Amino acid sequence: MAIKKLYIQTFGCQMNVQDSEKMAALLQSSGYETTDDPAAADLIIVNTCSIREKAAQKICSQLGRFRQLKAINPHLRIGVGGCLAQQWGESFFKKVPSLDLVFGTHQIHRLPEMVSTLDRTGDRRAETGFCEQVPSLAIAAQPVAGAVSTFVTIMQGCNNFCAYCVVPALRGREQSRPLPEIVGEVKLLAGQGIREVTLLGQNVNSYGKTQAGNPDFADLIRAIGEVAGIERIRFTTSHPKDLSPKLIASFGRVGSLCEHIHLPVQSGSDRVLRSMNRGYTVQEYREKVAALREACPGISITSDVIVGFPGEEDEDFQATLALMRDVRFDNLFSFQYSPREGTGAAGMDRQVCGSVKQERLRILQALQTSHTLEKNNACLGRTEAVLVEGVSKNEPHEMTGRTRDHRIVNFPGNPGLIGMTVSVRITKAFLHSLRGMMEGRGGAHVH
Ligand code: SAM
Ligand code: SF4
Repeated sequence: MAIKKLYIQTFGCQMNVQDSEKMAALLQSSGYETTDDPAAADLIIVNTCSIREKAAQKICSQLGRFRQLKAINPHLRIGVGGCLAQQWGESFFKKVPSLDLVFGTHQIHRLPEMVSTLDRTGDRRAETGFCEQVPSLAIAAQPVAGAVSTFVTIMQGCNNFCAYCVVPALRGREQSRPLPEIVGEVKLLAGQGIREVTLLGQNVNSYGKTQAGNPDFADLIRAIGEVAGIERIRFTTSHPKDLSPKLIASFGRVGSLCEHIHLPVQSGSDRVLRSMNRGYTVQEYREKVAALREACPGISITSDVIVGFPGEEDEDFQATLALMRDVRFDNLFSFQYSPREGTGAAGMDRQVCGSVKQERLRILQALQTSHTLEKNNACLGRTEAVLVEGVSKNEPHEMTGRTRDHRIVNFPGNPGLIGMTVSVRITKAFLHSLRGMMEGRGGAHVH
């Protein structure tokens, strides 16, 4: 079988990155090997995102650029998968006539069959059906060669229907993978040199509801905590309403569970939270933060905020800023609200105008910048355990890794340290990273 070249471009979240790895693994068995050069490809797959309008625009312009490659190589096939493919389905062919293949979020497992039918018949197809059990959920994604840290998908879909969000419509209802299957995958990864796993799902706190014996997320963490070789466990994303006392208590009890939680709050106003259908109040959120800090002093807390949700008044926005000043997030991802077709909020009255959203985002980001710097500066002089992940992108003589609380640390070192946990004294703090010096070689290896 002649080897063909596959180029995959991924937009959006970590879930899509995982799905792209699965696509590459599936197509490898049909004779495709991946390339970094789209001009050398026989098949280009764009794994799409639809979370905000901007993502859709970027994807369409990228597809326009790929279309020009067809003029040079008429045998080139172009396919789209992921959330935008799920949303647009058949109509993707009308919007982008150069496409050959459209497949939805539950159809990844059929990719080899779809590509081979396309090769045989030349027929263009859109497959966007939903499955009761998503077959690709059981496929283990292959970590990048030499990786120390990787993601493990534990569930997919979402049952929450936040009023702004397209995920439930495009990824379907929540489905969890069986606990033994996940633990088995983590054991295999540990055998391949992985030292850190990040457990991935839209709402990991509701993991396990459909599984035999009803294991919950804290049970899963405990089980992974026993896998030899896995030094660090992280997870994302945690929904505040489902963050249980049992999970909070796991911090500090499971030695490998890192002291960091991403806990998206979205707004600091009860009125807005209610209208977003988030299922918690600002006070409840504050109480969860306090409980986390009591169980795990110094835990790093990061969050997501949307500004300009329909009906958000200046006083609601001020309440978000007040919450940020009180909680002092270690980091924050912030977005202007983007109306998405098919979601509850898209049809709401009192949409906020673009310039107001922009200005609110600017103010909020400036505040967060000062908080992030304050938190990073507080690390100066500390000695941190850093899991070394690789050579720094900007400095070839520096290594890069992360602290347990998820801060990036660069320090002079050599590639022989990759995969080790070393002690680094922090000497400089920036907005996006820390710099330091490794402590005495003898004491370098922490574990
Ligand atoms: N499941 C996660 C959760 O509940 O937090 C994350 C879902 S989403 C991929 C990541 C973030 O995108 C959300 O937390 C939210 O802040 C943001 N987001 C989702 N829909 C949005 C929209 N329509 N406009 C702006 N931001 C949005
Ligand atoms: Fe979207 Fe809300 Fe589900 Fe997160 S919890 S994926 S924001 S609906």
